[in-house]
Amino acid sequence: MTNPTTSGHSAFSAPQENEELSDIEIVCVECGQVFVWCVEEQIFFRDKGLKNPPKRCATCKKRKNERIEAILALQKKHPKGKIEVAVYCAKCGVFTTVPFYPIQGKPVYCRSCFLAMNPDLLKPAS
Ligand SMILES: [Zn+2]
Ligand SMILES: [Zn+2]
Repeated sequence: MTNPTTSGHSAFSAPQENEELSDIEIVCVECGQVFVWCVEEQIFFRDKGLKNPPKRCATCKKRKNERIEAILALQKKHPKGKIEVAVYCAKCGVFTTVPFYPIQGKPVYCRSCFLAMNPDLLKPAS
């Protein structure tokens, strides 16, 4: 009688490399919250050939995509690349427009406040 544990079938018939994966906790670069990069998504990333783990949590990723969509929509409206976004200056509170789409959480200033804070921009290049 042969030993039943070595009776023929190979242990390597079905490679289970997914078993090495486990959920990874990542700190979102945008909001600082810890989110879980689950195994299913890791497999999805690997299947797509993506090597870098995600940087943003699902909420921020969605927000970022919405921002990109808004920028693309604006660029469609202004094919020359000129966009105008209405904002309130974070310093003096004046209502103004800026030629770029503000980054979430970053203050936006009107032109005079911006120049006041960056006086070097007014100096002629030498
Ligand atoms: Zn986030
Ligand atoms: Zn201002």
